Amino acid sequence: MQPMHAMVLDQPRTPLVMRERPIPVPTDSEILATVSACGVCRTDLHVVDGDLAHPNLPLVPGHEIVGRVAKIGRNVSGFVPGERIGVPWLGATCGVCPYCRSGRENLCDRPVFTGYTRDGGFATHVVVDAHHCYPLGEKGDDAEIAPWLCAGLIGWRSYRIAGEGKTLGLYGFGAAAHILAQVARWQGRRIFAFTRKDDQAAQEFARSLGAAWAGSSDALPPEPLDAAIIFAPVGALVPLALKAVKKGGRVVCGGIHMSDIPKFPYDLLWEERQLMSVANLTRADAREFLEIAPKSGVKCEVTRYALADANLALSDLRDGRLQGAAVLIP
Ligand SMILES: [Zn+2]
Ligand SMILES: [Zn+2]
Repeated sequence: MQPMHAMVLDQPRTPLVMRERPIPVPTDSEILATVSACGVCRTDLHVVDGDLAHPNLPLVPGHEIVGRVAKIGRNVSGFVPGERIGVPWLGATCGVCPYCRSGRENLCDRPVFTGYTRDGGFATHVVVDAHHCYPLGEKGDDAEIAPWLCAGLIGWRSYRIAGEGKTLGLYGFGAAAHILAQVARWQGRRIFAFTRKDDQAAQEFARSLGAAWAGSSDALPPEPLDAAIIFAPVGALVPLALKAVKKGGRVVCGGIHMSDIPKFPYDLLWEERQLMSVANLTRADAREFLEIAPKSGVKCEVTRYALADANLALSDLRDGRLQGAAVLIP
């Protein structure tokens, strides 16, 4: 049998290495999929850069997977060979902890994360838990759908938690923000995009996707916002975003890792402003977004890389050389 190929992280802060491995065999509750496309998320960067403490080394990163069912475990139902599926960050949950039992499986006490605590999609093949992957149908391009699986899903959870307000700020206009800007516009909401100072290209990109305003993250928007989501991993944005939202406004931190938040005066939080983080996703989030995304007409701007160029994709993302999302094509 042909081996599979994977880009493997042996140690944080070292480049991924292309390896051949035997194709894994799914257990009774798993699916073996061939990978058609896998998005590169900022969380992959945090894993590779050692910002997240518990990768299951040696590790295959990648949790924005679009693939095809190749082999089905004995106890799996509802999938057929050849079917296109999506695999997100939440790889499995325990089902019995207080969080799982109360509809908050995103906070599961014993979670498994794709591309972090189990091998992910920077590979030709991947084995996944059948209860944590999603039929994608046949509409749309594999690479353009891949970023939906994390930027879209966790972005969507952040967006929902930001509330129903009509004016929404997005700090960091990367993969997640460029998806949400399109969904928000479709829903008749107004987006204010905040980027690195002087990043004219990102600001122009945001305007091209319908942002009502785009500017530097240390600027105040032309009107106070109902809510803001921070996607950039920069703690200094927290007081800036609190300053930009109106009374009762909410600031949501959508990333898994952020630099320290600087001291700020209580005045910025006063008047019932709220500050919170979003962790992971639930299966309900996934189903909801995967239904809404095609309806909203959201289209991802992607830069395609060969699997062997995963390190290049990571460094382009790290250095902000991308608009939209990077996607590996095995
Ligand atoms: Zn649990
Ligand atoms: Zn991600």
